[in-house]
Amino acid sequence: MTAYISTRGNFPPVSASTAIKVGMVPAGGLFVPGEIPVISEKQLLALTKYDYISTAMEIIAPFLDDFSADELQECLQPAYLDNNFYHPLVAPVCSLSNSLHIMELWHGPTAAFKDLALQVMPFFLTRSAAKMPDRKEIVILVATSGDTGKAALEGFKNVPGTKIIVFYPYRGVSRIQELQMTTTDGDNTYVVAVIGNFDDCQNAVKDIFADRFFNQTLAEKGFELSSANSINWGRLVPQIVYYFWAYTRLLAKKVILPGEKINFVVPTGNFGNILAGWYAGKMGLPVHKLICASNENKVLTDFFQTGFYNRNREFRQTSSPSMDILISSNLERFLFEITDHDTGKITRWMTDLQEKGVFQVDDATRKLMGEVISAGFAREEETMDAIREAFDSHRYIMDPHTAVGYWVYEDYCRKSGDKTVTVLNATANPCKFGSSVLEALRGRGYLQGKDEFTILHQLEELDGISLHPGLRDLEQKPVLHRTVCEKKEIRGLVERILEK
Ligand SMILES: *Cc1c(COP(=O)(O)O)cnc(C)c1O
Repeated sequence: MTAYISTRGNFPPVSASTAIKVGMVPAGGLFVPGEIPVISEKQLLALTKYDYISTAMEIIAPFLDDFSADELQECLQPAYLDNNFYHPLVAPVCSLSNSLHIMELWHGPTAAFKDLALQVMPFFLTRSAAKMPDRKEIVILVATSGDTGKAALEGFKNVPGTKIIVFYPYRGVSRIQELQMTTTDGDNTYVVAVIGNFDDCQNAVKDIFADRFFNQTLAEKGFELSSANSINWGRLVPQIVYYFWAYTRLLAKKVILPGEKINFVVPTGNFGNILAGWYAGKMGLPVHKLICASNENKVLTDFFQTGFYNRNREFRQTSSPSMDILISSNLERFLFEITDHDTGKITRWMTDLQEKGVFQVDDATRKLMGEVISAGFAREEETMDAIREAFDSHRYIMDPHTAVGYWVYEDYCRKSGDKTVTVLNATANPCKFGSSVLEALRGRGYLQGKDEFTILHQLEELDGISLHPGLRDLEQKPVLHRTVCEKKEIRGLVERILEK
C-alpha cells in the first residue's frame, strides 16, 4: 500500500485516506506519496482511447490504493459527469499553431481550473472520513486568493458531515470572484473577507491547523479540521490527470509521436498545478520542460534563477489575483522530491522561510530544479499586451492568468529557441476577469463608468466568446455573506461559527 510521508520527517507514514482527511501534517509539513507509481508507454498509448473519467481512474487509482475501484468510480462519476462540466471533454485541448496548444481547464461550474480538483475532492474526503473509526464533523478551512474559495464552496456545499469556511483578502479579489463567493447558498457554507492579503489568510489557516490545543478543543465538540487548499494531497492528485489527458489528446491527433517530449506552461501561484505536472513527468509522462509563469509577484522566477527564496518584498495586486502569492506552499513538496526526500534540508529551509522570510538552497539542488523547470514572469503591461496579441494573431481570448503564461512562453521561446510542442494551461475563463480582458482589447479608459455586468454583456459581443453559464446568473443572486474581519479575529470567528 502507498504510504504517505511527511516532507519534514515529523509524522509516521499514513494511508492515502488518512492523508486526505488530515489535510496537512499537524506539526507542519505536507503529505507526499512515499513512492510514485509508474505508467508504462503501453498504458500511455492505451489512454489515447479513454474518456476523461477512465483516464482519471487509471492515474488516480495507484495513488489512492485504499479506495476500491467502485469507490473511486463513485467519486469520479458525479464530479466529471452529470453536466457538471460545460464541455463533454471536460478539459478540451485546442491548437493555436503547430507548436502551441491550449488546454482549457475552465469549463467547470466556477470557471477556473480549480474545479478539476475541487469537484471530486469532497467525495474523496467524505469517503476517507467514513473509513476512520472516530467519525467527526469535518470543518474545511480555506484560504483563497479568489478562485479556490468558490470552487471549494461549490464542491462542499450541502455535503453531509461537513462545514466549509472560506477566507479571502478583502478588496484583494475581483468583483466577480467576490460575488461568486458571497452569493453561495447551502446550509454549511461561510464566507469571510479578511483585512489583509492572501498570505495573511493562508498563514492564519496554517496556524489554526498547527495549534494542537485548539484542535483538541474542537475535537471535544465533535469537529475535526481539514483543508481544501492544495496543501491537501486529495486536491493535488486529480490535477495530475489532465497532464496525461492533454498529452494523449495530442497523441491521438498525431500532433506528437509516442515517446515525444512536450512542454507545459503553467500560470503559477501556490505551485500546486505545476507540481501536479511534475508528478506526471515522474510517473513516466514524456515532459521536457515545465514553464513556471508568474506575474509581478515573481518570487518563484527569482528563486529558480538564483536558488534564493525571498518573500520579504512588496506585495503587488495584479490583474491575475489568483497568482498574487508570495509563499508558494507546494514548493515544499517539490524540494522534498528533488532532494531525494532530504527531510533535514526541507525542515531547515521551511523554518528559515517561516522565521526570516527567506531560504537558500545549495547549488546541487538549484541545478536539479533547473533541469525540469524554466521560470519567467510577466509585468502588468506585458500581460495586457499578451491578451491583445493572442486575440490579434489567433482570435483567441484569454484571461490575464493564462495571458501571463502566454507571455512567458513567447519570451521563453525567444530566449531558448526551443521548438518543442507545448501545452499552455488556460486556468480561467476570460469572462471571470472580463474587465481586464476588455481593457486589454479596447484600450485604457474604456471601462470608465461600466459595472461588471455591463462588462460581461459586452464581452459576449466579442468574437469567439460565450458567457460561462456559471457566471450568467450572478447578477440576479442575492449576497448572503457579508462578514469582514481583521487577521487576529480569524480564530475567534471559527470558534463562533462552530458554536452555532
Ligand atoms: C489558482 C490559480 C492559479 C495558480 O495555481 P496554483 O496551483 O496555485 O499555482 C492560476 N490561475 C488561476 C486562474 C487560478 O485560479
